[in-house]
Amino acid sequence: MNALVWADAASPEEGASQANALFRDAFGYEPRGVWSAPGRVNIIGEHVDYNGGPCLPIALPHRAYVALSPRADRTIRLISPQTRDAVDVLDLDVLGPKGGPGEVTNHWTAYLAGVAWALEKAGHGPIPGFDAALWSCVPLGGGLSSSAALECATAVALDEVCSLGLAGPLESPNDEGRRELVDAARVAENQIAGANTGGLDQTASMRCQEGHALALDCSDMSTRQVPFDLGGVGLELLVIDTRAKHSLADGQYGSRRADCEESARLLGVRQLADATDLDEAVAALGDERLAARTRHVISEIARTRAFIELLDEGPLEGRRLAVAGALMYDSHESLRDDYEVSCPELDVAVAAARFAGAHGARMTGGGFGGSAIALVDAEATTRVASAIARAYAERGWEAPHFIRALPSQPAGRMN
Ligand code: ADP
Ligand code: MG
Repeated sequence: MNALVWADAASPEEGASQANALFRDAFGYEPRGVWSAPGRVNIIGEHVDYNGGPCLPIALPHRAYVALSPRADRTIRLISPQTRDAVDVLDLDVLGPKGGPGEVTNHWTAYLAGVAWALEKAGHGPIPGFDAALWSCVPLGGGLSSSAALECATAVALDEVCSLGLAGPLESPNDEGRRELVDAARVAENQIAGANTGGLDQTASMRCQEGHALALDCSDMSTRQVPFDLGGVGLELLVIDTRAKHSLADGQYGSRRADCEESARLLGVRQLADATDLDEAVAALGDERLAARTRHVISEIARTRAFIELLDEGPLEGRRLAVAGALMYDSHESLRDDYEVSCPELDVAVAAARFAGAHGARMTGGGFGGSAIALVDAEATTRVASAIARAYAERGWEAPHFIRALPSQPAGRMN
């Protein structure tokens, strides 16, 4: 049996020193500082964000580190070892939205430069040019929000070097200000990078807290910290990056959204989160596909609320742990059968985790590949991971990558 592939997080010291060294090598002087921001994973509440429902992300220990110094001009120079070992140069006076004359052609730089552009657009300017080195241990394209991590790290860096005062210190974050940084990060991703995402990822990266999950109400993006001290009760989250990416993903996402909008219209509600009676809604819809989509959304919202209530009651032990785990398995089945966004790699990861004794498991993120999560006893993590790796090997699939996660800190300055 081959060794398990762990994609462990770098320590903050390691991440900061990597970004620092890269900066010095590329630009030949010391950066003003290093800032960082986490990737995220959603515990429950999937495909409900665009229906106005709640979700429950945590910040991963995996972070993007940005070493940055402001410049006296409007030039932006960027480097990241994960792309190519060369400095990319942009002009803040020239860059603009995707599809327009200022389009950023080197895709990855759009996420960083876009944040400066968006902050200025939102009236926080003038933002100076800057030199920045990016080093990240958030897996790219695994559905764990490597993109939001680098936007948010850039946002808190610019916030500090421009004295905008929006982020606040990590010990007492400025939640209102952070919402503005979330907006800038989202605008950068939507307009400059041209990726149509809704703000969940950036909100998680910017507003999660260590030891907590973030109850995020997507109808108004209001948040509440919910105690989720997994380590304190001997639990751990095992994240399984399936390494699968099915080409269906983009079109299917659009068609699920369209199904939801159509269902809401037929039910006479503004969004599906407003349709509270599941049986009534399903009966009213008639159409089998729309009924199944709606059944997922309404039941997932109920599961997410139930999960949050359990966490509010106390630590995840005994009955609470059993119920929470069952909610995760139910969520997976609903996404697989009613919403039809799972895939064999996700289903096998969840089934193998369950068989190996995970308390709960489910696909997370958009689906058709990406990652699954399993809630496990910390001492059983390796056993569960081995069972999943074995199930993949038996099918001749590429080995999945594993991450161990506890709810971690939001975007901020590294000391
Ligand atoms: P996800 O956010 O789920 O990881 P996305 O497709 O939204 O997937 O974002 C991935 C993109 O973000 C990459 O294609 C790249 O452009 C950019 N990116 C993420 N991490 C890095 C990095 N370390 N260096 C350069 N670009 C990065
Ligand atoms: Mg992303």
